[in-house]
Amino acid sequence: MPQEYIEIRGARENNLKNVSLSIPKRKITIFTGVSGSGKSSIVFDTIATEAQRQLNENFSMFIRNFLPKYAQPHADAIENLSMAIVVDQRRLGGNSHSTLGTITDISPVLRLLFSRIGKPHIGGSNAFSFNDPQGMCPECNGLGKKMGVVSDTFLDMSKSLNEGAVQVPTFATWEKASYASSGFFDNDKKLSDFTPEEMNLLLHGKDLKFKLQVGGGTMNASYLGVIEKFERAYIKRDLKTLSERTQKQVAPYIALRPCPLCKGARLSQAALGCKIEGLNIAEMSAMEVSELLDLIKKIESPLAASMVTTLTERIGHLVNIGLEYLSLDRETSTLSGGESQRVKMVKHLSSSLIDVMYIFDEPSVGLHPRDVHRLNELLGKLRDKGNTVIVVEHDPDVIKVADHIVDVGPHAGTKGGHIVFEGSFTDLSKADTLTGRHIKQSLPIKGKFRKPSGQLSVVNANVNNLHHVNVDIPKGVLTVVTGVAGSGKSSLIHQVFLAQHPKAVVIDQSAVGTSTRSNPATYTGVMDDFRKAFAKANGVSASLFSFNSEGACQTCQGTGVIYTDLAFLDGIKTPCEVCEGKRFKEQVLAYHLDGKSISDVLEMTVLQSLEFFTQKEILQKLQAMSDVGLDYLTLGQPLSTLSGGECQRIKLASELHKKSGVYVLDEPTTGLHMSDITHLLSIMNRLVDAGNTMVVIEHNLDVIKNADWIIDMGPDGGTKGGKVVFEGTPVELLRAEGSITSVYLRNSV
Ligand code: ADP
Ligand code: ADP
Ligand code: ZN
Ligand code: ZN
Repeated sequence: MPQEYIEIRGARENNLKNVSLSIPKRKITIFTGVSGSGKSSIVFDTIATEAQRQLNENFSMFIRNFLPKYAQPHADAIENLSMAIVVDQRRLGGNSHSTLGTITDISPVLRLLFSRIGKPHIGGSNAFSFNDPQGMCPECNGLGKKMGVVSDTFLDMSKSLNEGAVQVPTFATWEKASYASSGFFDNDKKLSDFTPEEMNLLLHGKDLKFKLQVGGGTMNASYLGVIEKFERAYIKRDLKTLSERTQKQVAPYIALRPCPLCKGARLSQAALGCKIEGLNIAEMSAMEVSELLDLIKKIESPLAASMVTTLTERIGHLVNIGLEYLSLDRETSTLSGGESQRVKMVKHLSSSLIDVMYIFDEPSVGLHPRDVHRLNELLGKLRDKGNTVIVVEHDPDVIKVADHIVDVGPHAGTKGGHIVFEGSFTDLSKADTLTGRHIKQSLPIKGKFRKPSGQLSVVNANVNNLHHVNVDIPKGVLTVVTGVAGSGKSSLIHQVFLAQHPKAVVIDQSAVGTSTRSNPATYTGVMDDFRKAFAKANGVSASLFSFNSEGACQTCQGTGVIYTDLAFLDGIKTPCEVCEGKRFKEQVLAYHLDGKSISDVLEMTVLQSLEFFTQKEILQKLQAMSDVGLDYLTLGQPLSTLSGGECQRIKLASELHKKSGVYVLDEPTTGLHMSDITHLLSIMNRLVDAGNTMVVIEHNLDVIKNADWIIDMGPDGGTKGGKVVFEGTPVELLRAEGSITSVYLRNSV
């Protein structure tokens, strides 16, 4: 069969300069280039968008009203596309009923297996589903969790009942006093001296009759223990029906905790009683999938043969992609971006579609160097099934497997948007482009390590796979936390370190700015300096130059666009006709600073504005953005158009001139080209030299080599991990035993 190509001619989305290229079908094509060079503009904004649009054209006008709208990309021609499936890092999200097992369609097959060969036999496969009334635990409706009292700080153990030991703020005075008047207790005995039976009666006793003393007389009353009473009053009722004041008073004592009936298993007692190989379905769903796979393979019943085959294949895909440490009952909302992307990949591997375009955005994120080969095998399998695989990637170990490479550049933003190289990996490594030059180099381990100025202790870390982990994070140095995926890095840093040291600032990839008026200038605060400079130069008030002021265009309220709501169609955004998208009133635009209006300034890139301004405070903030590799950004570009990596870097930029102590960064090299990593390192070093403490979770070996201190988690993922396997400098890590990271570090020096 002759090689077919996807043909693109004259593409001009965002910064693309009339780009034309051919992408071989049923091959792996990888797009490389510095961030902001235009990779996404080609792959997502041109190819994927056009494929979606063409697909939607096949539907009737009526159906199309319900589909997302795709504008035709700016290009002269885009031909020979197949259906596109974009596998991105958007988290899977989902409610608590969405788990790894449900989303990969493994759980339905497991349920079928139990309904066929489980003992004792209890019913159809619905009887094993926590999403079905037949199977769900009636106590928690299949949630596995229930609101309950989690604190007993409303008892003063050092007091007796007569001294007022029961202190629930929401109980009436007579209710508090009722415990002493019940006659069940020695009212002068301190609670700390109560026997377990007495304590149980005080907390959980229920519906016992006694005579309550009120106003000199007595009345028949029914005794309720403190927790029992509390639960009936505040938990069994909908919390939202309580007054706000009561909700606030009650909140510290209650939280979600495992359901007392099913112990978190979510299923009815009948379902939990049904077993295969001595295990019930909840126990199987809680196993790591690698162990579950071994168990399933042992099942020999002829009644189960087809289900065993399907389960072996689907669970096998999870193991092969490096997710062997997850369990089927893991809620999808708790998976990281990288894990979410790999789960989506698994779904597609099980699909029988062929001749599809699979589009991936940096699939190596979150993967330890040890596991990158698994990703590569997966990409190969998708191709070999007859699909076209298109990948945006920075990791040389992934780029190597490409059949064809397209390098976009030469630089970012307006200085990018060209194809600077097309060809094989061998040719790329000889090419004189930023990617070509950097692909062969790796940084040396640095020669001198900073001395810590103290330490931040993490004490008794005990979540997920961590068991009583104690570790010290040195202050005033750059610490890199390493380890394979699932080893416990995030659990240690995000869940425990941050809880124990809440002043630490997290700089992550989540979106910045909620207002449609936010942009890099407002976010970094340089907008305030611009306003002052314009005010000073023109002798007017600085507030005139704010998007939120009377100076803003009244028609679009300073957003520059008008949003039109169309009854049956998606709303559309059009540039404001009054200000032509310039966002300010004409009279404001008439005020100039060195010949530019405030709107002209907002249309500058960071780089252009660095050349334009001379004021020290302004230059400092602009330089910070340039230092984090964002000099191609337009100052007025809405923050909603920034990628995750760009969001993280702009947050970093706005911290650069502060001095706030402790920073936590999670995979800051995501979205960064090899040539940008040196830049990122110099910023992190600057922050540390200014006296800050940096804690970075990273797989990138160049970052690891630049650390002052390494904390390596492992030895492996899931239950095989959760320990600190190494603490020390990168040079010491080279010689460390039992560390997977050490092996890969040795290979790279
Ligand atoms: P890459 O994927 O190589 O990082 P992009 O294709 O995302 O680069 O971006 C190329 C250029 O286009 C950058 O200057 C970026 O800021 C700009 N850009 C991307 N999306 C938008 C958008 N929606 N609006 C305006 N500019 C954009
Ligand atoms: P890393 O950051 O090194 O990839 P994590 O700390 O995310 O590792 O995960 C360590 C272990 O804890 C893994 O087995 C993972 O599946 C489990 N885990 C992580 N987060 C959760 C969660 N929210 N609920 C249940 N298990 C979790
Ligand atoms: Zn339950
Ligand atoms: Zn306007």
